[in-house]
Amino acid sequence: MARKKLIAGNWKMNGLTADGLALAKGIAAEVKALGKPQCEFLVCPPFTLLSAVKKSLRGAKVALGAQDCHYDSKGAHTGDVSPLMLTDIGCSYVILGHSERRADHGESNELICKKAISAHQAGLKTVICIGETLEERDSGQTIDVCSKQILGSVPESATAANTVIAYEPVWAIGTGKTPTAQDVEDVHAAVRKVLSKKLGKGNANKMRILYGGSVKPSNAREFLSLPDVDGALIGGASLKVEDFMAIAKNSGC
Ligand code: PEP
Repeated sequence: MARKKLIAGNWKMNGLTADGLALAKGIAAEVKALGKPQCEFLVCPPFTLLSAVKKSLRGAKVALGAQDCHYDSKGAHTGDVSPLMLTDIGCSYVILGHSERRADHGESNELICKKAISAHQAGLKTVICIGETLEERDSGQTIDVCSKQILGSVPESATAANTVIAYEPVWAIGTGKTPTAQDVEDVHAAVRKVLSKKLGKGNANKMRILYGGSVKPSNAREFLSLPDVDGALIGGASLKVEDFMAIAKNSGC
């Protein structure tokens, strides 16, 4: 089953106007220069830059995503942003359940699931993040934890067309540490099995499962050539045009 690889940048809480737009323009120019890229590209800047980045990406095959959304379409939720607001300004994706949101904002699987349903209803594609902590890994619970996160945070409305899963071991995010390629493949294959039980084999075989956690140009080929790895969610290395594009090029894009 051919799944088009997704190379996604999560800028997190980084980027003022000048450097954010320079980054977006640099990525847009490089992706245009690829002609017909073999991968799909996505950038997820902070809310404050979404509209301006959208303009900077004009004409380039780079999708725009946000890093979170509320589950309501409007109303009394001070400081929150709704899925409809995101589609309104040209987003096609939203990241949900990133481990930093699970940790910093106490987001539960149920809440993430609620957000995903609402995002799908608004026409957004979701990148739903899962991953174990170091403690969970050391006590042999990785697959169990990831399976529970999939079962709890991926809604019944998820299809291969509207959902991407990102497996991001919490201990590998921003640390420079990574699992072995075999570990990553084992988790991705197990996640696909759980998806198959939950959403059916057809959806599971077509759904992209990204790896995230200290992906850089030097390890991209190793991870992205694994059979069940369908792209990368990249944090730190997505903030430099050369690194982001080198990851893409080393992954066969
Ligand atoms: C992330 O937070 O999504 C991530 C993978 O970060 P980094 O690439 O910096 O580890």
